[in-house]
Amino acid sequence: MPGLVVKPRSRIFHGHEWVYASEVKKSFGDPQPGDVISLKDFKDRPLGSAIYNPQSQIVARRFSRRKQKLDAEFFTRRISRALELRSRLPGVDPGLCRLVWSESDGLPGLVVDRYGDHLVVQTLTLGMDRRTEEIGLALREVLAPASITLRNDSPVRHAEGMRPETRPLHGAPPAPFAVDAGPVSFSVDLLGGQKTGLYLDQLDNYARVAELAAGRSVLDCFTNQGGFALHAAARGAGQVTGVDSSAAAIAAARSNAERGGLSNVSWLEANVFDDLKRRDGEGESFGMVVLDPPSFTRNKRSLGDAMRGYKEIHLRSLKLLEAGGLLTTFTCSHHVTRRAFLEMVRDAAVDARRTLRQVCTYGQRADHPVNPSIPETEYLHGFTFEVVPAW
Ligand code: SAH
Repeated sequence: MPGLVVKPRSRIFHGHEWVYASEVKKSFGDPQPGDVISLKDFKDRPLGSAIYNPQSQIVARRFSRRKQKLDAEFFTRRISRALELRSRLPGVDPGLCRLVWSESDGLPGLVVDRYGDHLVVQTLTLGMDRRTEEIGLALREVLAPASITLRNDSPVRHAEGMRPETRPLHGAPPAPFAVDAGPVSFSVDLLGGQKTGLYLDQLDNYARVAELAAGRSVLDCFTNQGGFALHAAARGAGQVTGVDSSAAAIAAARSNAERGGLSNVSWLEANVFDDLKRRDGEGESFGMVVLDPPSFTRNKRSLGDAMRGYKEIHLRSLKLLEAGGLLTTFTCSHHVTRRAFLEMVRDAAVDARRTLRQVCTYGQRADHPVNPSIPETEYLHGFTFEVVPAW
């Protein structure tokens, strides 16, 4: 098998599964893009099997410590193990979950979301993309789904030199359908929607945040199809407002609220930055503000801009909160560490002249498991802070 010799002190010797271009000592046997290759250390000892893509900064991603082929049988085994884990995780419905999550399930670049009988697949590495057919066969073998839809519109594919591609892989993609999550019914449009469906990583955070929102007026910023707003409205919040800049998201949120018979929630299509500024100018106040923005940065270079963006919305939100009010805030970029995020919140509180205390913390749901040796697998951090009344 062709392969790479990895330089000493590379991250793979510290538990990581990736090899960066700068960590390659030399190649042997002429490996080709998308191939399975073998990795060796500088003393010629085998390190296992990896997928190879010289177009990416991450040239190799190890998926086994042994010599291993990537065939339908292998995918069947790994996918069965991923399913078995989901069925054992407390609080995770194996019928509505992220069934396969890339490195954390030993399948680098493969993401599979399960909505009952319907599966949505993303292949984010060339190695996985080349094996879409085998992956489809394995999924059919393990789950016998009614449909499998390929939703390859993630910008992450650019880094691997791949184009976007969205198409049915098996069966006919379903017409938009409703999915129940706790007290809320969401609409899912697997082929046509702006995204795959739901933010599965946030599903159990909705319920926890809704519990804190009871009896409060709530402003849910970046609401998408209303995850936090609808749960809060269904669990005893006062008046709830959801804001998002996407017309399609707001339309979905509105129809979710109607289907659920929720009348204490209203929706606004607007840019959150402008909307918070306007509300601040008009002296509005809320009992809870939720901030769940998209990742403001996909790389380290734009981190400074991202932090300024975060600080602006936190400063304005803190000003909008009544004494004793709650700020619930999330970051979903792994480039923004928990520590940097908390420092930003502290700086915003200083500027807003408010004292905070942390009353709750949140992370990605357990069907997105973190691999402690691969920091990139931990990306979602969330907190609820109380604005302490003067003391
Ligand atoms: N809270 C949601 C997920 C939010 S995803 C949930 O759990 O379901 C981020 C959302 O922010 C997307 O719906 C996107 O349309 C919206 N968005 C991105 N930039 C925005 C902006 N500047 N103002 C308002 N909404 C924005």
